[in-house]
Amino acid sequence: MTIAWRDKVAVVTGGSRGIGRHIALQLAKAGLKVAVSYRGNETAAQETEALIRQQGAESLLLQLDVSQIANAQVLIDQVLQTWGRVDVVVNNAGIARDTLLLRMKDSDWTEVIQTDLTGVFAVTRASMRPMMKQRFGRIVNIASIAGLMGNVGQANYAAAKAGVIGFTRSVAREMASRNITVNAVAPGLIETDLTHDMSEDALQALVKQVPLGRLGRPDEVADAVWYLINADYVTGQTLVVDGGLVMD
Ligand code: NDP
Repeated sequence: MTIAWRDKVAVVTGGSRGIGRHIALQLAKAGLKVAVSYRGNETAAQETEALIRQQGAESLLLQLDVSQIANAQVLIDQVLQTWGRVDVVVNNAGIARDTLLLRMKDSDWTEVIQTDLTGVFAVTRASMRPMMKQRFGRIVNIASIAGLMGNVGQANYAAAKAGVIGFTRSVAREMASRNITVNAVAPGLIETDLTHDMSEDALQALVKQVPLGRLGRPDEVADAVWYLINADYVTGQTLVVDGGLVMD
């Protein structure tokens, strides 16, 4: 089935920068109205909004911290008040606090779990009622290959992202009969602020292990998200976008 996307409504958490911005633009290009949530980077969020509007699409910016459970309902309620429906949710907001387990502070653990896993739970749960009423919904959660293979210095992040994959499969089973699909994308090393923060040596050592021999681009992750949003007969899957680093 080809879905008529014009005037449908999407929410992208963490859409102000990086991968989320590219996902938001992909959706805007297809004619969806796009709500972008972000945590604090007002300048980046406004740039994204301007880019969405250049595509001729409507947009809504919402500054809120997805690590606070109550904010998820605020986010979805704002979108419903503005546009009356919610068809697509991309749970993209995420942070890393990398350090070896022996040095990991309680806050390194809780901040990552609250943002990367609890945030996905809360926003997905808040989206379910409107999607059930519509008998249509598409959820895509951004996981990571760290959630599949683990990674030194990322016990917190890998646990959160593995959690996202298990959560995706469970909700996909619960919601399939309502015509709501729930999938995940697991990016590898993608060129964004998140990877710019890594040391050049650590980054180059990792790039050497990528069969396709380079970092990925945010628009390449957005392409995978767009595929899953359009796929009628795919649910509960994790699509890996990593240049061949992980092969099952
Ligand atoms: P960036 O750091 O470039 O952008 C992160 C985005 O998330 C920003 O929009 C930021 O808002 C938002 N955000 C962070 N914390 C919160 C919060 N508590 N509440 C609301 N919004 C928040 O990240 P990437 O684009 O690189 O990553 C996007 C997703 O992809 C993440 O889930 C990440 O884990 C995942 N990923 C990234 C990889 C990579 O190599 N880059 C690899 C694998 C997975 P603000 O601008 O206001 O700070």
